[in-house]
Amino acid sequence: MPFTGKLDGNIVVVGLQWGDEGKGKVVDLLARRAAWVARFQGGDNAGHTLVVQGRRTVLHLVPSGVLHPEVRAVIGNGVVVNPAVLVEEMDALAAAGVPTGPDRLLVSDRAHVILPVHRALDAAREEARGAAAIGTTRRGIGPTYEDKAARRGLRVGELVDPGRLREGLARALARREACGGAEASLDELLAWAEPLADRLRPHVRDTAAVLHRALDRGERILFEGAQGTFLDLDHGTWPYVTSSNTVAGAAAPGTGVGPRDLHLVVGVAKAYTTRVGAGPFPTELHGEAAERLRAWGHEYGATTGRPRRCGWFDVPLTRRAVRLNGADAVVLTKLDVLGHLDAIPVCTAHEPGPDGLPRPVFRELPGWRRDISEVRRYADLPDACRAYVERLEDWLGVPVAALSVGPGREQTIPRDEAFAPLLSAG
Ligand code: GDP
Repeated sequence: MPFTGKLDGNIVVVGLQWGDEGKGKVVDLLARRAAWVARFQGGDNAGHTLVVQGRRTVLHLVPSGVLHPEVRAVIGNGVVVNPAVLVEEMDALAAAGVPTGPDRLLVSDRAHVILPVHRALDAAREEARGAAAIGTTRRGIGPTYEDKAARRGLRVGELVDPGRLREGLARALARREACGGAEASLDELLAWAEPLADRLRPHVRDTAAVLHRALDRGERILFEGAQGTFLDLDHGTWPYVTSSNTVAGAAAPGTGVGPRDLHLVVGVAKAYTTRVGAGPFPTELHGEAAERLRAWGHEYGATTGRPRRCGWFDVPLTRRAVRLNGADAVVLTKLDVLGHLDAIPVCTAHEPGPDGLPRPVFRELPGWRRDISEVRRYADLPDACRAYVERLEDWLGVPVAALSVGPGREQTIPRDEAFAPLLSAG
């Protein structure tokens, strides 16, 4: 299927499943052609794993594009920011030789601040839910978005304004106490916040205006999604979802650009499916079959270390994700992981099961039983592997623009020559 998307504009990268699709690597590759990389939702619950020159870097909050020296990073207004985590990540990056000064990393003054009380509340709630837990990462993301919607949260602009910090913290604390959630005093909170505010102050801007000026100069922006489509607050498997919109359209309100400034949407999907935490997962495997896929794919969370639930590729679900995001192209990741199988089941339809829940209908495609992690050209892939990709592409109705066959930058195969320039250096 030919790829016809606009390659020389602003790109949004999103996950088409439940997160962990390998967006970090795709963002890292595409960031080479961008002047800016911006995050638009979520917080430090994201866990992008990048392997660059054999070195593994995990970023939770700072956009992964920051590893490119010529790219400037923005943490947009739609993100919730734990200032302690941000400072820690800036220090870790600096130690690894990646500069993170105010010329390279900006934080929106409108982003909301994750306070220690938010984390405590998140953890306490998950404990209280017991077996019915949502499976949140307990980073305080949900309670912080709640306070944003309730108009009592603390924004980054207030955090770094010495004249407004005490009042802002007192407000956040008072409302928390009213619902029995606060355990820290105002003075303790101030002692925590002040040094962090001093560190972050030079980075804080009206980032929407910064991006508007960048667009006026014709500079390209890459919007970096976190989590995945079916964790979207509206379109995901509610209530087992995250507390923000994860779909591509959210890049506009989450950074302050207009919808017409989003020119190309790249959806990232694994060649099979995984999910962390509770909630529906129609193609899930259990027992030994799940164990094997988990071991082959190293399916353990980058943020929490939790084993991921594993299952087969779900065509109807991913096709819906393509529509929800308006994806122009798909990057299919972890294709190498399927190289151990004689036959690969793919879910091609859902039918109503006896319990009223959707039951997947599987079709088996031939496996290729070969290590493809060293293959660099589409034509050099085994026939069965190309057939697998092309079947998925037909069923999804959108071009598969590239394949990923390993965690490294170089382990990426352009499927479509039109897409190749985006992935190549220079
Ligand atoms: P994200 O949250 O979508 O950015 O996903 P992660 O960064 O957690 O990526 C999932 C994991 O898969 C990371 O450990 C990556 O290094 C790894 N990974 C990414 N692409 C591939 C691939 O094509 N093959 C293999 N085997 N691993 C990959």
